[in-house]
Amino acid sequence: GMPSAPPPVLSPRRKSRQIKVGSVAVGGDAPVSVQSMTTTLTADVNSTLQQIAELTASGCDIVRVACPSQDDADALPAIARKSQIPVIADIHFQPKYVFAAIDAGCAAVRVNPGNIKAFDDKVGEIARAAADAGVSIRIGVNAGSLDKRLLAKYGKATPEALVESALNEAALFEEHGFRDFKISVKHNDPVIMVRAYELLAEACDYPLHLGVTEAGPAFQGTIKSSVAFGALLAKGIGDTIRVSLSAPPVEEVKVGLQILESLNLRQRRLEIVSCPSCGRAQVDVYSLAEKVTAGLEGVEVPLRVAVMGCVVNGPGEAREADLGVASGNGKGQIFVKGEVIKTVPESQIVETLIEEALRMAEEMTAA
Ligand code: SF4
Repeated sequence: GMPSAPPPVLSPRRKSRQIKVGSVAVGGDAPVSVQSMTTTLTADVNSTLQQIAELTASGCDIVRVACPSQDDADALPAIARKSQIPVIADIHFQPKYVFAAIDAGCAAVRVNPGNIKAFDDKVGEIARAAADAGVSIRIGVNAGSLDKRLLAKYGKATPEALVESALNEAALFEEHGFRDFKISVKHNDPVIMVRAYELLAEACDYPLHLGVTEAGPAFQGTIKSSVAFGALLAKGIGDTIRVSLSAPPVEEVKVGLQILESLNLRQRRLEIVSCPSCGRAQVDVYSLAEKVTAGLEGVEVPLRVAVMGCVVNGPGEAREADLGVASGNGKGQIFVKGEVIKTVPESQIVETLIEEALRMAEEMTAA
């Protein structure tokens, strides 16, 4: 068919340096990537690799693993070798694990400037080892573990304090000629977090890793992250994202991808356009939408499926979508690319939509 123009985005991307996290480019014109973190004991290699495989299958681009002990450090070579996506080792306090992660073949290392006392005199060595191995670093500032000196100076984890901590740490690496890092300044309050990233975006050209830390259980965390990332990404700020949820990491990836898709920063995949239902509805829209969503789980092609409760907006939306149903009088009019292809009894709406969607998905995949 005709090559279509790329879908519009709200702002051009902030111009950032590009770094590599293993095979994934971060910053510059690279697509905004999605990260998550394993919840298994890193030392448990099989469970960790199993979870990484699930994350990979769900669309995760980069995975981070915690490394709090020697057993975890010892597991890194096997994990880095067998993971299908780049692995970042998350390290606090212990410089020796940074070197272990670099030797293990991890794609990147995350260090926390809040714990910098332990790292201060090692920065040169870390920079050299990382540069030699082609390993990038995330300078990950976190409100909960802000450098004591800055906490004393600012009284609390203000946006300015978070940014100063990050830039101090960046300067230490820069002194050694090392610039292959990305920065995060996480806070659990989206307002403070957004302000911090805005300041940071102006102060440097490093790629930025977005995160609202301790965002909470799935519902609250999804909203906090969506609002905060949305505010920043809408201005072109953000090169890689991690949604933090007190929920399985695969959920974090799903939310992250959906945020990017909503802003046209990723190609949209399956999209269910369903109405909220109202007093005019002539079918149970919730159950219809739920069943169609469940039946099409795993469909990766950009397909818009409209599920509409009545004939007011129904036919209009159903026409705009690739596929849709407008219900009324115990029947469903099935639309494909704007044309009514058939009218089926209500009991057959779900199966008909799923059948048509899968057929269209197959055609799109084959094309
Ligand atoms: Fe109500 Fe019909 Fe609109 Fe659904 S499509 S919200 S049922 S008017």
